[in-house]
Order: sequence, then structure tokens, then C-alpha cells
Amino acid sequence: MSKRDYYEVLGVSRNATKEEIKKAYRQKALKYHPDKNPGNKEAENKFKEAAEAYEVLRDDDKRARYDRYGHAGLGGQNGFGSGGMTMEDIFSSFGDIFGDAFGDFGGFGGFGGGGRRRQRVNRGSNLRLKVKLNLKEIANGTEKKIKVNKYVSCSDCGGSGAADSNSYATCDTCRGSGHVTRVTNTLLGQMQSTSSCPTCGGEGKIIIKKCSKCFGEGIIKDQEIIKINIPAGVGKGMQMTVSGKGNAARRGGVPGDLLVMIDEEEHPDLYREGKDLIYNLYISVPEAILGTNVEIPTVESKVKIKIEQGTQPGKILRLRGKGLPEVNGYGKGDLLVNVNVWIPKKISAEEQKIIEKMSNSESFTPQPGKDSRGFFERMKSYFE
Ligand SMILES: [Zn+2]
Ligand SMILES: [Zn+2]
Repeated sequence: MSKRDYYEVLGVSRNATKEEIKKAYRQKALKYHPDKNPGNKEAENKFKEAAEAYEVLRDDDKRARYDRYGHAGLGGQNGFGSGGMTMEDIFSSFGDIFGDAFGDFGGFGGFGGGGRRRQRVNRGSNLRLKVKLNLKEIANGTEKKIKVNKYVSCSDCGGSGAADSNSYATCDTCRGSGHVTRVTNTLLGQMQSTSSCPTCGGEGKIIIKKCSKCFGEGIIKDQEIIKINIPAGVGKGMQMTVSGKGNAARRGGVPGDLLVMIDEEEHPDLYREGKDLIYNLYISVPEAILGTNVEIPTVESKVKIKIEQGTQPGKILRLRGKGLPEVNGYGKGDLLVNVNVWIPKKISAEEQKIIEKMSNSESFTPQPGKDSRGFFERMKSYFE
């Protein structure tokens, strides 16, 4: 099969500018677009021919080779192999050239499965929002009700976009069947394929009288209260998908998703580290020496713990299972109590005397021994 001259195909002169070539291609592509010429084999061939010409002429290097050597200069290197361009190739390469002319089909992604089957489904866009949770909500999981501004299905027409049930006419393109049959030339010979009708989107009918509330769109801006179930153990930066709760799609398509980003409120006393919680406890010097009982805040309430006589600052007490649950997992983290000993910054003259007296006592002389080694062990466990 001999190929037509690419300049002739696009109807431009041999010294046409890039802009002229692009414009000429766009015109041809819209004229022979399969949505305008359903089932028209000749239009499809012209559509492909124009795409091939444009693919070569828009590229300086390929155009130069073509100008010097003609079709032979390209040697089947037009980027789409010897089988020529498929519809899928064309739409994935040049789909953007059509701009909004056919924009409401959600691009040309509908050409799936090697162009054999064509589906045209409107899809609503995704919505994103942030939800801030406190530790108690994170520990137990929670249900949030959130008011969201979004496109919802029009209640007057039920999302159809039609004024009423008499607002439809049978589709001329497919004569009401909802599908069209198309013959495609492939390397394996002619293939007959059936796809949804591009004019009516497979419904077999078109709207002739639009709903007055949504102007035929099938969607309107509104607010919706959405319930979001958040499992226990989530953390800052995690994202949850609530499928189907994004914007509604035009004319009864598939709604988008609601993407929920988790954020955390800071707790006044507890610091989170993964599933563990950390509490910084301060006790007095006499408490450290004599031992005491203290209350430790937990996510839910408080627990009482005993501080042993002679507890050194920097000791970490582990309260098992008082941390947070793992998200979608088993087991719970711990609450780690970091013991600090409060050293007074100002003391009275009387206290000064007592402390000076104690400073000569052997008991007050540091004897770190294994406590010091214990410190290194603890530090190591942090860096693991
Ligand atoms: Zn409506
Ligand atoms: Zn139709």
C-alpha cells in the first residue's frame, strides 16, 4: 500500500511552520474523530493517516529525514512500528490536542484493551480533606461526621440530567441499540468489534430536554455530611480512601473517592513514638531517695505506679500495653515513663546547711557502677 505524502495529508505546504502543522492536524483529527464518525471505516483511516503524518512532521529530525528521503527515510521508525498507529497510540500521544472538544469523556482513557472495546464512563473527581484526631480517638478508633462541599447527584432528575422521562429521543447513531460495530484492519486481517455508541454513551437514547435545576449536568454543588470510620492506631500523614464519596459524576457516572489525610492533635503530657507513648516524670530529690507512689497520665485516665527507693534519674519504667494499638494489627504499644529528678534551683539558708552536711556523707558520693552500664544498654535500645 503506497502512502500519501504527509504534507498532502495535512493539507499544508512543505515549508509550513510547526504551529501551522499542529493546527492543520487538529482540524483533521476533529473532522475524522471516531466520536463524530462512528462506524465509518474511511474516517477512521483518515484519522490514523493524519496522526501518522503529524507524528513525523512535528519532529524536526523525522521531518528532515522525510524531506530528504521520503517515506523510505523513516524506515518504519515513526515510533509505532510497521503496523502503524493504533487508536490507543493516537489518543495517548496526541489526546491533549483535542483539548475540551471531547473533554467530558474523561480523556480518551476509554480506549482500553488494544482499542477493541470502547467505554465511556463519566467519573467524578476525588476530594481531599484533613482530619485532626486526639490521642483518645487514635487509641480507640472513631467515627467522624464531616460536612463536605461537593458535587452531588441532582435530586430533581436523579442525576440523569433530563427534565423528565419524556425528555429522551432515540439515538440516531446506534438507532437505540447502544452499541456500534466497527471493522478494523489489523496485522491479522480485518477484525470486527462492537463498542458502546459514542454518541449516547451506550444508553441508546439522548436527552433533548434538560433538567432545569442542573442544566442537564446531573450534578449540583451542595453539602453532604459524610461519616468516616477511622480505625484505631492511625497516625499523622496516613491516608484513607472512602470510595465513592468524592464528587458525583456528570449524568449518573461513577463518583470519585474521598481521600482522608490523618493529622494528630498534640497531647499535653504524652508524646507518641509509633505505637509507644512516652511520659516525662519529674520527682523530687527526697522522693528519689526514699521512694514514692506517683500518678501517671494514660490515654484513658491515670495509673498509679511505685517509684522504688534509690531510683536514679534517667531510669525508664515500661508500662506494658498502655500505649496505642497497631493499626489493622494485633497487640499494643507500651507507655514508657522517663524518670527525672528535680534539682532545686533556689534553696533557703536552712536547707543549704542540711545539704552541705549531707555532701560529706559517703551515701551521697556517686557510685555509678552498673547503673552507668545500664545507661548504655538503654541508649543502645533506642538506636536499634
Ligand atoms: Zn437535574
Ligand atoms: Zn447511540
